[in-house]
Amino acid sequence: MFRYQKGIKLDDHDLWIDATGSVESAFVSHGHADHIKKHKLSYATPATASFMRRRLGKISINQVEFGEPVAIGDLRVTFLPAGHILGSAQVLVERDGQRLLYTGDFNTRESATAEAIAYEKCDLLIMECTFGYKKYVFPPRVELIDRLCSFASEALRQGEIPLVFGYALGKTQEAMKILADNGFSLCVHGSVLHLAEVYQKHGIEFGDVVKFNQVRAREKRVVILPPQARKNRQVQRLAPAKSVFLSGWGMEPSSRYRYGVDEVIPLSDHADYNELLDFIERVQPKKIYTTHGPKDYYVFLRSLGYDAEPLKQANQQELF
Ligand SMILES: [Zn+2]
Ligand SMILES: [Zn+2]
Repeated sequence: MFRYQKGIKLDDHDLWIDATGSVESAFVSHGHADHIKKHKLSYATPATASFMRRRLGKISINQVEFGEPVAIGDLRVTFLPAGHILGSAQVLVERDGQRLLYTGDFNTRESATAEAIAYEKCDLLIMECTFGYKKYVFPPRVELIDRLCSFASEALRQGEIPLVFGYALGKTQEAMKILADNGFSLCVHGSVLHLAEVYQKHGIEFGDVVKFNQVRAREKRVVILPPQARKNRQVQRLAPAKSVFLSGWGMEPSSRYRYGVDEVIPLSDHADYNELLDFIERVQPKKIYTTHGPKDYYVFLRSLGYDAEPLKQANQQELF
């Protein structure tokens, strides 16, 4: 049904899913940089199409809504919500009664800014398993939100500037929405705001937001920045300040030092160890291909009785 060749290539078609280089035509799961390329023709959800245009410039895209199948030859291809960032999609491919589900990056938890994940039964599952080790079990979301809000209010109470770092697409807008809904005023880096405009067009409101500069950052606002901004001199001069980084990798005890911040909160946009297993149980695949996670995750799945193998090892050969 597919081969692993420059991404997922669907047999007998010049059609890929999340191709790793430029191709004839590809379904694109979501707007993160490692998933988007300039293809001759891309298929993407409307939000993903907006992110692609903001990041790649002029590009040819067929916009496809969630749940609306596209017929291409003998294939039926449908985007399903992946819960990872706004517009993020799983891709379901149906052919001759066989169902292939590609998760893309996915998150099964509630999100303030991404569509809730959908579960569809499949025969073949290609899944990302970024947090596939047992040590990656994230605390409950309410607890993480509480930690973020307490971090911000405590800093402000102490007369310090709260700096919140996260990836420019997805994580920072999630933080903006959580903080705005909890009554905080925001001061947000231009690169984050540029992408937040797409969220606003999709009806997500962020309350009192101004664009980041040194003066506005001192107005008792929570300052939201992409990771690269830690090297920005304007940011380094903000004092006194307290910093937090938002990432699932915050489960690693050393992550605070790695990111050079006071605290890391494991607010993730990926499924954790338990959520990966729960997902598999729900979609009931006959065969699983793993990608983007522990190299031996497939061995672990085999120990649970699943027919699993890593996607890359299957390189170039007929898989189904
Ligand atoms: Zn992603
Ligand atoms: Zn990714």
